[in-house]
Amino acid sequence: MADNSRPGVVVLGAGVSGLTTALCLVDAGIAVRLVSDRPPHDTTSAVAGAIWGPYAVNDDRVIDWSMRTWERLRQLSGRSDSGVRLLSGVEAATEEVTPPDWAHQVDGFLQVGPRGLPSGYVSGWRYRAPAVDMVTYLGFLTKCLADRGVVVEMVGRVNRLDDLLPMSSMIVNCTGLGARELVPDTSLHGIRGQLLVVENPGLREFFSDYPESSTPTYIVPQGDLVVLGGTFVEHAELVDPDLHVAAEIRARCARVEPAVADAPLRAIRVGLRPARPRVRLEAVDLGEAVVIHNYGHGGSGITMSWGCAEDARGLVQQFLS
Ligand SMILES: Cc1cc2nc3c(=O)[nH]c(=O)nc-3n(C[C@H](O)[C@H](O)[C@H](O)COP(=O)(O)OP(=O)(O)OC[C@H]3O[C@@H](n4cnc5c(N)ncnc54)[C@H](O)[C@@H]3O)c2cc1C
Repeated sequence: MADNSRPGVVVLGAGVSGLTTALCLVDAGIAVRLVSDRPPHDTTSAVAGAIWGPYAVNDDRVIDWSMRTWERLRQLSGRSDSGVRLLSGVEAATEEVTPPDWAHQVDGFLQVGPRGLPSGYVSGWRYRAPAVDMVTYLGFLTKCLADRGVVVEMVGRVNRLDDLLPMSSMIVNCTGLGARELVPDTSLHGIRGQLLVVENPGLREFFSDYPESSTPTYIVPQGDLVVLGGTFVEHAELVDPDLHVAAEIRARCARVEPAVADAPLRAIRVGLRPARPRVRLEAVDLGEAVVIHNYGHGGSGITMSWGCAEDARGLVQQFLS
């Protein structure tokens, strides 16, 4: 069992998983230290699109985590400083497909025929989903933590989880792809994603194609900006922007929504989705310490963030009691 002489918990990682988990813990009255080698705005989480939707992740708990997160993000969409907006939009396929099971559970679900879809798409459905401006949202979570007395401590790269033992005997590991070397966990790999941020020519609804492919096409309005995506390349781990790919992304999105063809470019973002055969959310009792792992969320780390954080908190509480 954990040594209780060092009370509280240290959360490692300041992406969406670490920040959300730290917030859940501190709101449950648990003392938290949050440490990382990169600040929130320099994580994979800051690259994400980001639209709610289970995507590129395998786990029988995905729908439960995602639906709980949907509700938490819906609540946050009522706060203008959160960066979360509830948007209506369309998901569409170029072949006849049946909607995924989760689609029937979300607000405003409605199947749409070809006449309600962009040219070239034959089946689809409408629904409402939280869209998250990640730069604002990560800043919002950071401020929520600071208001509760928790700051992100930049400690440099942690090479072994044991190195955190002087801080606490309860460690929550939210290191995303970094867990591959840290744990180590060879089942993790990166899935490269690239997207464009352009000025918003007046769009208010999201679009996403279906099913998953190496060239996902999605359009997510974020206030004055629009995110255009994207790519999905397994085991490709360079994070330099590719201008040729950027032009392809824009051309695909412009076929769906011609107004984005000439929208001024603001940024190109590239990141690596932390993929794993299954999300790792479990407690490991090492004797002198307990490690709660919360990583490997693939393309759905924002979508599942609150559900996973709540379950991580549950595991912490089990061991603390
Ligand atoms: C292009 C793109 C688009 C995406 N779109 C969406 C979307 O629309 N919806 C969605 O739900 N998801 C989306 N994702 C996936 C999502 O971004 C990830 O699942 C999520 O960000 C993972 O968050 P995380 O906090 O677990 O990891 P990260 O954001 O990678 O954070 C890990 C943290 O751990 C720290 N760390 C790691 N290793 C160490 C170490 N050894 N020592 C110290 N600190 C360490 C890092 O510095 C960082 O602070 C997208 C991803 C990409 C790349």
